[in-house]
Amino acid sequence: MIEIDGRPGAGEHPATREGWPLAVWRGFRNRCPHCGEGRVFGRFLKVRHACEACGTELHHHRADDLPPYLVIFVVGHLVGLAILEIEMRVDDVPLWLQMTVWPLVALVLSLALLQPTKGAVVGLQYGLGMHGFAGIRGVGAGTAPNREASDEQSSGPDGAADRGGLRRA
Ligand SMILES: [Zn+2]
Repeated sequence: MIEIDGRPGAGEHPATREGWPLAVWRGFRNRCPHCGEGRVFGRFLKVRHACEACGTELHHHRADDLPPYLVIFVVGHLVGLAILEIEMRVDDVPLWLQMTVWPLVALVLSLALLQPTKGAVVGLQYGLGMHGFAGIRGVGAGTAPNREASDEQSSGPDGAADRGGLRRA
């Protein structure tokens, strides 16, 4: 996947339909899909209001339930395959060991994959110009709207920018 980073050129903003793999790759690495410099997340799964480096607004994303769905799909298949392989290849694995190891593996894998997956989904939505990202597509990295990250400014086109657990108490 590393060649994705180099295809459209490092430093080049992927605000085109052709550049969405670069935006996904940047989001996967917790980097701003627009400039690749700033971080996507302020906390574990809390997407920043805007990029700290280029000011691109990131609150337009609607990742919602897709990241956990993808993580469950991937982790379920990996752990399920591993359980089957161990059952077929190793004799007499104690049940208590399996009941301890596999839930822990699933938990650690899920926690490890959740943030990169959500970042990739945000990058995909940015790269495809979905939701509020449509308004900022094609804006160069140096001329992105550099607005202050205010809580009141999060009114998306459908007026539901704070959906999906983004609403601040
Ligand atoms: Zn940025």
